Amino acid sequence: MTSNKLPQSVRIREVGPRDGFQNEPEVIATSDKIRLINLLAQTGLRRIEVTSFVRPDVIPQLSDATEVLAGIDRPEGVSYSVLIPNRRGLENALAQRDLFDETNFFLSASETHNMKNVNRTVEESIAGLEETIPVAVEAGLRCEGVISTSFGCPYEGDVPVENVLALALRLARAGCVEVGFGDTTGMANPVQVRRFFDEARERFASEGLGEVELTAHFHDTRGQGLANVLAALEEGIESFESSFGELGGCPVPAGATGNIASEDLVSMLGEMGVDTGIDLAKLIEASAEAQELLGRPLGSHVLKAGPVDWHR
Ligand code: ZN
Repeated sequence: MTSNKLPQSVRIREVGPRDGFQNEPEVIATSDKIRLINLLAQTGLRRIEVTSFVRPDVIPQLSDATEVLAGIDRPEGVSYSVLIPNRRGLENALAQRDLFDETNFFLSASETHNMKNVNRTVEESIAGLEETIPVAVEAGLRCEGVISTSFGCPYEGDVPVENVLALALRLARAGCVEVGFGDTTGMANPVQVRRFFDEARERFASEGLGEVELTAHFHDTRGQGLANVLAALEEGIESFESSFGELGGCPVPAGATGNIASEDLVSMLGEMGVDTGIDLAKLIEASAEAQELLGRPLGSHVLKAGPVDWHR
């Protein structure tokens, strides 16, 4: 149970170039994507989700996956991941195998959200991934599985923790060394998060899968994202996903916007003495570039207010 002792350091995966750019109404030019990813790769971020191999007719915003991967810098120590929807997506990605390091497989824990998102039942999705993930493992790729609507579904309401953990364990047994839990439409609260990760860690340990990295992916749709981060930290979670500028969200339902902002996360962690290895000033520069490019104010708080440090 909760120790209230925070970890010394955490790992952060930047998902803005995928989760964020995917949800912009306009298609961002490939050269602008490359420029922004290169800025992010200079901040100290070691994990960046850069694009997705989804069908271009479904998500035209990411139809330049290959060009983006071929164009970005590859600084030492930065691990690039791509989002894979299914077997065909993996095969397209594997044609570019040398250009990325990790794959991220996703499904939703709720039937309705999964159906609206990928037009499959949850069982069809997980069964497909159980065949696909071992192929990625075989290709030497590190695999992460991400479960959307882990903390609630906008169509179905509560999502039983048992259902989420059953999927998580199946992803891990299929070869995922990391499982991410997405609060896709910002329904989680800190008390729920604490209970969830307490149970998740216990289940993974009791199944002999205690080594699997459990990652929290919160959205700030209702302003509870960072409170949920603290709750997860207090349950020993040391891996988070966030998006620079607070870009991103979810294609369904409309309006479910806002991953927690990477600079808000890095700022809070730094102030609490938790090391992220990320240079906050450089991260803010990357977000400011994105804000200028998109031509609208982004949701990030620290981008507006500046780091606490500037006021000392
Ligand atoms: Zn997200």
